[in-house]
Amino acid sequence: MEKIAFFGLGNMGGPMAANLVKAGYSVAAFDLNPTALVQAQKDGCTPCESPLQAAEGAAIVVSMLPSGAAVKSLYLGEEGLLNHLAENTLVIDCSTISAEDARLVNEAASERGLLAIDAPVSGGTAAAQAGSLCFMCGGEEAAVDAAREPLQAMGAKIFHAGSAGAGQVAKICNNLLLAIHMTGTAEALQLGVDKGLDPKVLSEIMMQSSGNNWSLSNYNPYPGAMENVPAANGYSGGFTVALMLKDLGLAMDAAATSASSTPMGALAKNLYQLHGASDENQKLDFSSIQNMFRRPAGG
Ligand code: NAD
Repeated sequence: MEKIAFFGLGNMGGPMAANLVKAGYSVAAFDLNPTALVQAQKDGCTPCESPLQAAEGAAIVVSMLPSGAAVKSLYLGEEGLLNHLAENTLVIDCSTISAEDARLVNEAASERGLLAIDAPVSGGTAAAQAGSLCFMCGGEEAAVDAAREPLQAMGAKIFHAGSAGAGQVAKICNNLLLAIHMTGTAEALQLGVDKGLDPKVLSEIMMQSSGNNWSLSNYNPYPGAMENVPAANGYSGGFTVALMLKDLGLAMDAAATSASSTPMGALAKNLYQLHGASDENQKLDFSSIQNMFRRPAGG
């Protein structure tokens, strides 16, 4: 089967690369963090010492990086990867970055005769592990079609949102809404607990009622209300407050360029900024916003 070069083996990229291996691909992996490469090797990837070593002979390149700056530094410029890939190589960037940065990479790839799409994901680390991610693709139809097979090895749903950058627009709209329903869910759960309700019982009631939403039913932020979520594990792993703040910043920037009104998103961003004021909180999963609403013991 084809060789895939995979860049960014973090909370999401690690299990995504492992699923490509399980599907039979030969995966060459590169990450700036050597610890991530040790795990990737355990998962069956070949660890590489440089991006160029990983990309050598690869028919497909997949990246899952923390920022637009990281994506641009990997692909663009004299030393960038795009200058070194063989014609017709398929480039799939799954990172959440701005639509503008995604278009820059796409245009540079097209100029070099490469196929490229932006394919940010939804579903979180559990879906990355289960291979059930939702991909939101932007780019030419032919490039999206060429990406279907490797994407199916990592996900359950593949949407073609439109031209280059459209996947990123869909993703920031989704995460704007996610931040809003996560903060709203935390607020409602705390009100119930303050009034003497058991958060698990209240969650079960709201999940069967009109307040149901993904944060409540799949990613409950109240410790003890649900198993196998970051709240059950000291808010470790998952999707960090720092990354949620990055996505809310992207959403606010995008709204400014189309004069769109986003008062709920602006409030959610402010709450996350307040919560993320400490370095410690920045590293916690984003459902830790529950702590903003919780009263100190005895309070
Ligand atoms: P992470 O911080 O766990 O992993 C990022 C990895 O990229 C790290 O291992 C880091 O060392 C590596 N890296 C950084 N710069 C690099 C470079 N230039 N070359 C190679 N490796 C580099 O982050 P994550 O949670 O896996 O998120 C990755 C992307 O996925 C982000 O854009 C995020 O917004 C998006 N995302 C995350 C989730 C989630 O639940 N964690 C869900 C959907 C989308």
